[in-house]
Amino acid sequence: MPPDNWLSGCDFNVAGTVSNSGMSSARLTEFAAATRRSGSGRTGVREMIPLEAELEEMKDSRDKVRQTVAGKRPALDIELVDTIISAYRGRAQTLLGPHRGNPVDVLVATILSQATSDVQSERAFRNLKQAFPTWEEVICADPRDVEAAIAKAGLAREKARNLQAALKKVRDDMGRIDLQKLAGLDAREAMEYLLSLPGVGPKTAACTLLFGFDVPVFPVDTHILRIAKRLGIIPPATSAEKAQVILNEMIPADRMLEFHTGLIEHGRRVCKKRKPLCERCAISKWCARREA
Ligand code: SF4
Repeated sequence: MPPDNWLSGCDFNVAGTVSNSGMSSARLTEFAAATRRSGSGRTGVREMIPLEAELEEMKDSRDKVRQTVAGKRPALDIELVDTIISAYRGRAQTLLGPHRGNPVDVLVATILSQATSDVQSERAFRNLKQAFPTWEEVICADPRDVEAAIAKAGLAREKARNLQAALKKVRDDMGRIDLQKLAGLDAREAMEYLLSLPGVGPKTAACTLLFGFDVPVFPVDTHILRIAKRLGIIPPATSAEKAQVILNEMIPADRMLEFHTGLIEHGRRVCKKRKPLCERCAISKWCARREA
């Protein structure tokens, strides 16, 4: 049974959705459509955004993959999912844990976490809040000061530019720097809006929904992409964006958060990029690549 998620039907109401939206669904759709028309706020990320045609293409690809996978092995053994969750239980409390339930904080923390470690991105987040206690102050600050505050996260110039532009766009669209108006929308509309923000690709948008709103979407980062390929769940050439589409169809909604955080931890500790520690791997029996 496919999970309720942002690709299966795309109009689901999920557990955890908050219904306090003051902005209509139609109004937010207008934002997303206007952003697509103008191309504003998409510098550097436009090519990552799954618009209608791209989503169709991804679905075709997913169907082909599913047929291929289904012919050779079960799509995803639930025991594998539960093994990872058991092995790394509690990780969901630490990864983005301090920001859970606060969508703007999750958004900022996730942008800062791109291409760096949790430790460095959390330091950058704390420095940013110390230098600029409100998000309004971040928008109004000299970009060089924002850059200095988040230096520990790396790619500081690009991230500072994206953060200021994303926060400003949220303020312009919502009337204040608050994403709660996304709550109550279906996940696809919320995803579309988030993808219209500068510096926000599919992973960052999915993290904002998962950790900020408890919406069951499955973000795919570099660790998850690598492990999924090694397990043989997705073909070797699959992009992160396509993998996110495929995996969102495979994973039960109620396990997405813990499986996401567990797989990231597994990638860091065991299924490392170089020299995976297969002899210590709890899921080796499902693995296509297992090294003897
Ligand atoms: S068996 Fe090895 S390659 Fe496969 S998931 Fe485990 S650590 Fe990774």
